[in-house]
Amino acid sequence: MSMRFYPFSAGSYVVNQGTLDNVNWGIPYEHPLPMYAIRHPKGTVIFDTGHNHRGLIDPKSWYGPSIEGIIKINITEADCLPAQLKRAGIDPDEVTHVVLSHMHIDHAGEMASFPNALFVVRASELSYGWWAPLHMRYNYVFNDLKDTRFFNYLELPDTVDFDLFRDGALICLATPGHTPGHQSLMVTLPDYDQPIILCADACYTPTNLENGNLYSSNLIWNVEAWYRTIEKLKYFRSIGCDLWYGHHMESWREKIKAFA
Ligand SMILES: [Zn+2]
Repeated sequence: MSMRFYPFSAGSYVVNQGTLDNVNWGIPYEHPLPMYAIRHPKGTVIFDTGHNHRGLIDPKSWYGPSIEGIIKINITEADCLPAQLKRAGIDPDEVTHVVLSHMHIDHAGEMASFPNALFVVRASELSYGWWAPLHMRYNYVFNDLKDTRFFNYLELPDTVDFDLFRDGALICLATPGHTPGHQSLMVTLPDYDQPIILCADACYTPTNLENGNLYSSNLIWNVEAWYRTIEKLKYFRSIGCDLWYGHHMESWREKIKAFA
């Protein structure tokens, strides 16, 4: 079975570190915006689509209040997924599946670039994408989602793990807590010695995992579910999985070296 794994970052954000660990308030923190392509014999899969390129020209009118909390957006059109795919020799039209960890601004931004793909999303996440409760609504950008409503969706239940091709290569792990319909992706490559878990926002940084530091309250849907998810990730690490954190520059730079 031949597979190939491509990690990309859609530039970076600089944010207030306290939003990620509820401790270091006021400290600027730069983090990557990971997104991935995986070529598998049964299809070309995207996991998360990053921040979108369409709103970069007039960010205030495109993203609205969604970007008010971000100190700096270090993103050019060349950083966004369509341009990165092109440079890697992947035609967006060959993408068969788009798996979304969740539908926040920096994960679902480029959904509209894949109108022919099957979107694998948790059912609750879709409702949140369209109409989240007030305190979490700003994390979702209506302009990113408005053209995707009648795309092709596989709406998975929120709490089960799902083996995408029934061969163990790509397993969507239910990891709710940050949002109700959050999922991570376990990737088992034939030529890499550990299964990789792309945590996405189930776990932003090692501090969340090691010290149990929660995110700020508007970034947590359910505290109990979030801690259960952290325990699930710790278990997978204990049996040899390689955890790729959602927003941690140092480990990101280290981990992507094997796939340069
Ligand atoms: Zn998020």
